[in-house]
Amino acid sequence: MRRLLSSTAAAVLLLAANGAFAAPAAVSPGATAATVTTQLPRTVVPSHYDLAFTPDVENLTFAGKVKISVEVVEATNTITLQAADLTFAGADLTGPNGAKIGPATIKVDEEAQTAAFTFARTLAKGKYVLSIDYAGKIYKQAAGLFALDYETEAGKQRAIYTQFENSDARRFIPSWDEPFYKATYSVEATVPTGQMALGNMPIEKSTDLGGGKTLVKFARSPKMSTYLLFFGLGEFDRATVKAAGVDVGVVTKKGDIPKAQFALKSAGDLLPWFNDYFGTPYPLPALDNIAAPGRSQFFSAMENWGAIFYFEYALLLDPKISSQRDAQGVFTTVAHEMAHQWFGDLVTMAWWDDLWLNEGFASWMEGRATEHFHPEWNSALNAVGGREYAMSLDALQTTHPVVQHVETVEQASQAFDGITYQKGEAVIRMLEAYVGADAWRAGVRTYMKKHAHKNTVSDDLWREIEASAGKPITDIAHDFTLQPGVPLITVTDATCAAGKTTLSLTQGEFSKDLPNKKALTWRVPVTVRAVGGGEAKTLVTGGKGSVTVDGCGPVIVNAGQSGYFRTLYGPTRFSGVVASFAGLPAIDQLGVMSDVWSMGLSGYQPATDFLDLASAAPATAEPQVLSKIASVFGAIDGYYEGMPAERAAFRKVALARLNPMLASVGWTPKAGEPDTVAILRGELIGALGRMGDAAVVAEANRRFAADKTDPSAIPGPLRKVIQSVVAQHADAATWDVIRAQAQAEKTPLIRAQFYSLLASSQDDALARKALDLALTAEPGETLSSTMISRVAGGHPDMVFDWAVANRDAVNDKVDSSSRTRFIPGLGAGSSNPAMAEKIRAYAAANLAEGSRKEAETAAASVLNRAGIRQNRLPAITAWVKKIGG
Ligand SMILES: [Zn+2]
Repeated sequence: MRRLLSSTAAAVLLLAANGAFAAPAAVSPGATAATVTTQLPRTVVPSHYDLAFTPDVENLTFAGKVKISVEVVEATNTITLQAADLTFAGADLTGPNGAKIGPATIKVDEEAQTAAFTFARTLAKGKYVLSIDYAGKIYKQAAGLFALDYETEAGKQRAIYTQFENSDARRFIPSWDEPFYKATYSVEATVPTGQMALGNMPIEKSTDLGGGKTLVKFARSPKMSTYLLFFGLGEFDRATVKAAGVDVGVVTKKGDIPKAQFALKSAGDLLPWFNDYFGTPYPLPALDNIAAPGRSQFFSAMENWGAIFYFEYALLLDPKISSQRDAQGVFTTVAHEMAHQWFGDLVTMAWWDDLWLNEGFASWMEGRATEHFHPEWNSALNAVGGREYAMSLDALQTTHPVVQHVETVEQASQAFDGITYQKGEAVIRMLEAYVGADAWRAGVRTYMKKHAHKNTVSDDLWREIEASAGKPITDIAHDFTLQPGVPLITVTDATCAAGKTTLSLTQGEFSKDLPNKKALTWRVPVTVRAVGGGEAKTLVTGGKGSVTVDGCGPVIVNAGQSGYFRTLYGPTRFSGVVASFAGLPAIDQLGVMSDVWSMGLSGYQPATDFLDLASAAPATAEPQVLSKIASVFGAIDGYYEGMPAERAAFRKVALARLNPMLASVGWTPKAGEPDTVAILRGELIGALGRMGDAAVVAEANRRFAADKTDPSAIPGPLRKVIQSVVAQHADAATWDVIRAQAQAEKTPLIRAQFYSLLASSQDDALARKALDLALTAEPGETLSSTMISRVAGGHPDMVFDWAVANRDAVNDKVDSSSRTRFIPGLGAGSSNPAMAEKIRAYAAANLAEGSRKEAETAAASVLNRAGIRQNRLPAITAWVKKIGG
């Protein structure tokens, strides 16, 4: 699944600014039926589901009949499985030789989300078939079987899809809805004739039943987990290419195939490449990439086996509105979901404790695939941003280990976070660099072969990598996945002799909110490079290390940025780094800047060190390096909220640094320019616009007005950013103009953008108007929560209070997987310490005790921001005064 940054995540990311609370989770030696966590009795296991169902799309219900082949492995008179929001008409059991056992007494436990089927006599060990007649709901948010309504030129349309990760298949099919219970599926559906039905497998047989009904029967699936099952139905178009013998396709609502061409080409290129990387060919006959209008607060795409689901904004490109960054997003999302077809679908984590095996791996692989197919995007640099995001979460005392014990459905939903994804990715990147890319791939290939169609735990992967690398990595892997937190490597001494530099290193722990905590110990692979000299590697063990490298200039620690740790140089050595900064490889410039900014915010070194580096960065630096400067300036500007005089002084300095960058890339794209430059242009316009640069705001307004008559006034790739600058500074009349455009728009992708704009105003009264609008039917069921989050970005205190006051109405607009994090996340961008208390009070009153992790992180982020304002801003203000004269 491709997760969506929650407002909590976005606020933490904006901080880009510890402590262990959980004991390292034990890793079991292998996944077995006896050891894997389950919420069901271990007495009965399923092997095949025969499902026949009929959706009533208009009335948002469906009727189902399922025959489940099961094996009783321990005598019992009750079969308990998972079911949520289903009603049962009856159930029957047949025994080993087709013998009729008789009907069941059915007991539903809504709280536990189970249904128990009890029979008159004890069932001996053996094979049975359980037949169940039932009915369920079609939801309006993206969980279970759900409907998405959208506008077309011909009027309103409704399509239905499914979303089951992490635990919502039980809303569609009474089942053993846990990843370990893999089974095969034969699905048939009775659908309106003429509509397209989609499943994991191709349609085997289609029978016109007359009366406008058709029975479609999908081919039997391979063995898989319930959360990967998929069904879709609507007025769709499909286009396909053949790649390595597989029908690779895109499916869109009618008329949108041209917008999916880039995704189709990308998917067709990726499949053979993945076949080769994993050493096991994609095992299904077809692979669809399905685009649907709307949104979820939980995810943007989902790796259902053979039928990947995407919200349109993550798969389609519309020349009217899409930017080069959107194109990169499509490629990386397709690569991520396709990587899951192996890592996740073919080999699946045994339980949610090891979710990172799916998500860390897919996140890392999307980067590798992008570097291979699009070297011009320089995407290795983007991995630094992902690592930075992980570290920003991991250095708060609310963090957790990558492998963490999960007990409940809500805890599983909360596990889809930056630690699971981005820290998982960063740890893999580090270990791959440590053993070498070839050894890493060889280990992955063996792992795939050995565990295909089965379940694993993390140690199953480490075992294969260690075998292929021929050197120990399991201990290092355990240090970084079983304990939380960010190592800090400090250079305590550097001496030069005979043309070589010897560095003494110590290992501590980087923490944003527990500066005096006792550091954990990690085995840390460290690569260093002397400027103008050589490169050397060491493994810092037991808290200490040293390394000798050719050359006597300044030495960059974590050269190449594959390590998951922060580096502290000390003042003298740091000035050497600043002096040689312009000549460093771009990835190290980015890594050094990220470390310096984050450690400056946390008091490990002066916060103004970043500003010195920003001054030392040459105008010719890589676009991603310049973009980091723009984003940190934006963050500093945010900290000055409510301090108009200091903010104005800072803005003067920031705008003076950013404006020449914009002048150099210009407003108008140059023929043949790299995409990275185009992306930088959009980011500079956005940053300058947010900070109220008069010329940029005026130019955005001019183009917005000219757009009605001059089609060249707003180039497609700049449309979103120009509109958003206009919307942030909109007056009531402009807000009404945007709303009228929103109401008239028929293309869902563009319509969603307009509603997002309405939620972007910096003005309090207009922000309130957007909140009121979000609770009406006008934006559509799945856009409301995005609007609310967007308003919270600029007005966290107001929106949190409003959401608490309107709790039920707000929760209705959020999918069930996001409910424990949505409202707490709205306040996460606040810098008012009182907000931390409000968030905790909300969690205590409304969330189960085990489901407050995201709320705690949101509260910790608020306190962190408040601390930065109090402790770090004064030095920045003084620096500004000095520079600004
Ligand atoms: Zn994923």
